[in-house]
Amino acid sequence: PPEVPPKGVNPEKKASPPLPRQNAKVQPPSPPPVIQDKTGSLRYQRMSFLGEGGFARVYQVRDSRNNHLACKVVTKSSLKTKKAKTKLYAEIKIHKALDHSNIVRFLDCFEDEENVYMTLELCPNGSLMSMLHRRRVFTEPEARFFMIQLIGACHYMHTHQVIHRDLKLGNLFLDADMNIKVGDFGLAALIESPGERKKTICGTPNYIAPEVLFDTANGHSFEVDTWSIGVILYTFIVGRPPFQTKDVKEVYQRIRDNQYEFPPHRDVSLDARELVQQILTPNPQERPTLHNIVDHAFFTRGTVPGFIPVSARDAPPNFR
Ligand code: ADP
Repeated sequence: PPEVPPKGVNPEKKASPPLPRQNAKVQPPSPPPVIQDKTGSLRYQRMSFLGEGGFARVYQVRDSRNNHLACKVVTKSSLKTKKAKTKLYAEIKIHKALDHSNIVRFLDCFEDEENVYMTLELCPNGSLMSMLHRRRVFTEPEARFFMIQLIGACHYMHTHQVIHRDLKLGNLFLDADMNIKVGDFGLAALIESPGERKKTICGTPNYIAPEVLFDTANGHSFEVDTWSIGVILYTFIVGRPPFQTKDVKEVYQRIRDNQYEFPPHRDVSLDARELVQQILTPNPQERPTLHNIVDHAFFTRGTVPGFIPVSARDAPPNFR
């Protein structure tokens, strides 16, 4: 296995405090209190700070009709290289084309002298990463609810030739009604011809599929998202990702060896264990399809709540 995280692999994002910026030479964006495009036809009041990622900062903003939105700001000084520009344009092009109830809606994109701005549907209940942090673990009915929405979004992306490539709890946001919204298309790829294979090593260590790391000659495709969905399901019901250790090198070894276990102190149902085990199949060709996954007994024999109450952000809901 590789000695260091391969280029393109995101350091794991912690809920807080933020990690050092990926490029320390670039000043983080500091958008003005009133954000507007060059013509002045789009105008937003900057409100609270929501979070930051590699190069972007995300703020809550208010438009002239008093709608609250999220605004992702990227400073132009971080877009000096052709590669950086190409990556941002790819993210915008892919995200803009997607229209699904469980994908963060992309609203507008514009620039001023300093920054590029993307307005997005606001997800006021944060990410599943911070929710799991407070809750420690989710109940299996909650896991089924979130999984069904995630799989629906993923199926939609795949039928539109998009691989997300960075599905993880930190990129799954919650709207006001606790529905999942998949966000951050910064690593997404468009498959432009049938059978095309992607070769770029990218993702986040804990969630990365084995073929991305160890079958670089053959490349990877849609099945890498399925793998991440398996990692996400395990994380929901156990409280931490299956291959997690302090040492990234060891994470890769565990992924290579398919080495993970269910801790004895957690009562995880046999159906859940079996489904995780099926999804985390090393050979991408043998991995279940998204249809196979939703047909599994974990879903068909278990209860799926109609909705998740907002109180579930802090305490397990009482489904009956
Ligand atoms: P990057 O592409 O730089 O990783 P993200 O798109 O992941 O940036 O956003 C960074 C952070 O901003 C997220 O972790 C989250 O806290 C916040 N955020 C992003 N999009 C939204 C949104 N639509 N609604 C609310 N908060 C958001």
